[in-house]
Order: sequence, then C-alpha cells, then structure tokens
Amino acid sequence: MVTSRQLDEGSTRDAAAGLLALCAFLGSPERDLAILGEGNVSCRVDDDSMLVKASGASLGAMGDGDLTEVRLSVLLELVASGGEVDDAEVASALVRSQRHSTAKRPSVEALLHAVCLDAGASAVGHTHPVSVNAVLCSDRASALVEGALFPDQIVVLGHRQLLVPYVDPGVALARHVAVMLGEFVAAEGVLPKVIYLVNHGMFALGDSTDEVQRITVMADKVARVLLSALAVGAPRYLTAADARRIDTRPDELLRRQALAARTPSAQKELTS
Ligand SMILES: [Zn+2]
Repeated sequence: MVTSRQLDEGSTRDAAAGLLALCAFLGSPERDLAILGEGNVSCRVDDDSMLVKASGASLGAMGDGDLTEVRLSVLLELVASGGEVDDAEVASALVRSQRHSTAKRPSVEALLHAVCLDAGASAVGHTHPVSVNAVLCSDRASALVEGALFPDQIVVLGHRQLLVPYVDPGVALARHVAVMLGEFVAAEGVLPKVIYLVNHGMFALGDSTDEVQRITVMADKVARVLLSALAVGAPRYLTAADARRIDTRPDELLRRQALAARTPSAQKELTS
C-alpha cells in the first residue's frame, strides 16, 4: 500500500528531478545565462512548500543536496509584515522556513521566488543573462518592455512583461515585486511570463520547469535582437493591434499548446 507520505516523497523527488534538469540547462556555460553562484530556481511542491536552490550552489553543477525545501508561509509572512526588517531577521526567517534543518540554506532571493509562486507560477527560473543584463544595465532598459519585436516573442513571453526598477535584493525587492505583480494581474488578467529587474537580471515564471526554460531562451533572444536593433537604429515594434492579434490568433494558441506538449515532462505524462 502506498501511504500519503510516500506519495509526498515521490512528488518531491519528481519536482527535484525537473528542477535539477532546469539547473543544468540554465547553468550550461555556453548559454551565458548564469556563471558561478549566479541565479536560482524554484518550484512548488505542495500548498506550503517549494524546492529552491541553496545559497552559493552553482546552477551548472547542482546535486541533490543543493536543493532545499522551504515553507512558503514563513517567507510570505515576512514579506507581508510591515516596517523595517534587518538582515538578522531575514536570516532567521530563512532558517525557520527550512523543512529539514540539516539541509543547506536558501538564499535571500528565495523571498522573491516565494512571491512568484504565491502569485500563481508553478516554477521559476532566475538568471543574469549577458544579453538581457546588457540592456538592463543601460539607460534603455525600458526598451525591453515597450513593445514586441517579432511574433514568436509574443507566443512565448506574452504581449507584455514587467520591468522593476533596482531595489535592494531581499525583503524590499520581494515587497516591491509583490505590489507590481498585483497591479500587472489586475490590468492584464494574467501573470507576466518575465520580470526584468533593472541592473540585476530576469525571473521567468512558468507553469512548468520546461516552460521556464523556453521563456528564458526566448528572453535571451529578444535581448540579443534588441541589442542589434539598437546598434542599427531605433527598434521598430509590432503595432499594438498586430501584437494583440498574435496573442489571440487560433493558430498561435495552437502553437503554444504544441510547444507545451513537446516538452519532456508532458510527453512523460502522455506515455505513462
Ligand atoms: Zn540575482
């Protein structure tokens, strides 16, 4: 007989396997998405748990012990609390959030992962792509969100993304993003697929680790095209009407479904 605890352990193991595959992809050196200890990933395990990369671990060289399971409620409580929170209180909350006291510690960016998962994402990937950061570290950062450059960008990233000004990473940033995410959802009716952080990097919000992978490579491509367009002249965006049309065309919706169905985890579901 399979107990509920064994089922829990099974789902955590599956989540860890998916997350480690995402880490290997995002941390692969030739992709220029994250080096050394940069970036982190997370996914929801159950109502109050997420798996997240441990602080200091390298995305390109992750092992089972480099993921840590934390309680979302402890981190979200800290984000929702008003007033100043000092570094010691943050460190204490991160320790209290851990499901297993012997596991490695989560980084302070776990707070922002908790906010993204709480907003509705199932998996999150945070990277510092060279291409994206080249734009985010310039005075043209807003060019990333002023419009769509080509149709496939809209298919994968949606017609609008979120740009967040530089805020001290940790509680302040998590609170700021929580407010901006709420405003975005109220205006658009959906979560953004990408959160761009000025002078920092990007967060990809997916329904699966496979979608996080697709979002990240498309955001990297958008940034590289934008950098070249800026070198030639001013970027020429699709009109708002054309962008909306791509976002709602039946054939583009089918293409989104086909992309999702082609992913390894979806195929596993189909064949199991
Ligand atoms: Zn970062």
